[in-house]
Amino acid sequence: MAHKTDIEIAREATKRPIQEIGEGLGIPVEHLLPFGHDKAKVSAEFIKGLNGNENGKLILVTAINPTPAGEGKTTTTVGLGDGLNAIGKKTAICIREASLGPCFGMKGGAAGGGYAQVVPMEDMNLHFTGDFHAITSAHNLLAAMIDNHIYWGNALEIDERRVTWRRVMDMNDRALRDCVTSLGGVANGFPRQTGFDITVASEVMAILCLATDLDDLQKRLGDIIVAYRRDRSPIYARDIKADGAMTVLLQQAMQPNLVQTLENNPAFVHGGPFANIAHGCNSVIATTTALKLADYVVTEAGFGADLGAEKFMNIKCRKAGLAPDAVVLVATVRAMKMNGGVAKGDLGREDVEAVEAGCPNLGRHIENVKSFGVPVVVAINHFSGDTEAEIAAVKTYVESMGSEAILCKHWEKGSAGITDLAERVAEIAESGVSQFAPLYPDDMSLFDKIETIAKRIYRADEALADQKIRDQLRAWEADGYGDLPVCMAKTQYSFSTDPNLRGAPVGHGVPVREVRLSAGAGFVVAICGEIMTMPGLPRVPSAEQIGLNEAGQIEGLF
Ligand code: ADP
Ligand code: MG
Repeated sequence: MAHKTDIEIAREATKRPIQEIGEGLGIPVEHLLPFGHDKAKVSAEFIKGLNGNENGKLILVTAINPTPAGEGKTTTTVGLGDGLNAIGKKTAICIREASLGPCFGMKGGAAGGGYAQVVPMEDMNLHFTGDFHAITSAHNLLAAMIDNHIYWGNALEIDERRVTWRRVMDMNDRALRDCVTSLGGVANGFPRQTGFDITVASEVMAILCLATDLDDLQKRLGDIIVAYRRDRSPIYARDIKADGAMTVLLQQAMQPNLVQTLENNPAFVHGGPFANIAHGCNSVIATTTALKLADYVVTEAGFGADLGAEKFMNIKCRKAGLAPDAVVLVATVRAMKMNGGVAKGDLGREDVEAVEAGCPNLGRHIENVKSFGVPVVVAINHFSGDTEAEIAAVKTYVESMGSEAILCKHWEKGSAGITDLAERVAEIAESGVSQFAPLYPDDMSLFDKIETIAKRIYRADEALADQKIRDQLRAWEADGYGDLPVCMAKTQYSFSTDPNLRGAPVGHGVPVREVRLSAGAGFVVAICGEIMTMPGLPRVPSAEQIGLNEAGQIEGLF
């Protein structure tokens, strides 16, 4: 029997009016700002009043290093949320919003899959409630004001060669990566080289996702470094006087979006920063709001646990004062096989040996998560081709690591397929065994922070950096940025900086190619390897398959 596509399943959902979903969380109708019948923003005023509420339990869903076989973190996040609700635990889900770039580029939505999805998935994967458009506008307003400042006399003495603030667009468009602006004569300003990033890579996105309220948002926007003078002193967005108007553009976008799962459980979908040059988690305001309203909150971090979970713990939790009560590490038999050396085309054949050979990748992630003091349980996201022997091999391996792996069939069956995991997660979270602590203290030097992550998470022998980079880090420490966390930008496919090195490599070094200061977001980015901030479309973009059918419904969106 052919499986239904994600969009076919989503279209058959019986949605409840969003007011009912909000009511389940105790949000009065006047504090839900509806976008149609099935989406709403939660008012800032209501959120302000929640401070006295106790926090629920926080559960992070992360995964092994991603492979082209697909792991299903979002699918498992949604499935676990439904599973917890099904066993009587009041649970909300927190995930990221989707970018249009990958939506029209490569297949794969952001709303989960199979019978574990958030709806309306079409909206969620397209314009949704307009947050990304607002972020794009706020970012580009600042860009326009910088060039305008230079045009009208440049009182701040901006060195035009050192304007670091680029422009953004929410589209994969490689033609815009590098360009020259202000061509065409005196009236158009001073030509200079610049370029576009995709909106999710904007520092404004990272700021929106880390800000605790509108005042904090404006302060952080003001702190953005946009350019340098000839003497290398920084110019801030505040100096350009853009922070007020940017905050106005972002006022609505700061309010978290509430939607529902296929099983009518609440899901907050808010923010979506890149997981390489930014921290890759949904917004702090959505997570903290959900924690005040539900007994359990299930959330997801991007990429594998070496990047996503590390940043969730060391950046998001540290900065927002959050502490996870349990971590679910998603693994699949297929991905274990790929880590064990099997090519994508051969995944259909049973290969217990390859599964066993790939398991050390999973094992290292288990150890890493535990090193934050947080208990971990492995979710085997079941694919229809997995054999009993292969599943048993993963379970045996995980047991040998002193943890446990639970088979989950939420993609196929919704909550009914994931109640075992839900029961176990609830038990662990309630037990209070989590003793969360970030990996390094605030006052460790910036380079030592990078090296701590390289050694303890990637298991590298050392972090390597030229004198120029070390000097830059020291200069930032002297300027008062030394207590910021670091945000590692490296390939998601390997513990090392070589994307082809699967499994659990040892003996590698982590070369730091470049460092950047995201002073508004509040982290120092360490770039280790090639990182693309404006992706391109593939040879056959999925946009070619997308269109409206005769009934006016969207076809081809996953
Ligand atoms: P991630 O969040 O890790 O990037 P997603 O949860 O978005 O992954 O899933 C990626 C794709 O894989 C989705 O299209 C989803 O439908 C599919 N998928 C996830 N789990 C399964 C499964 N158990 N069987 C088949 N397809 C799955
Ligand atoms: Mg995901």
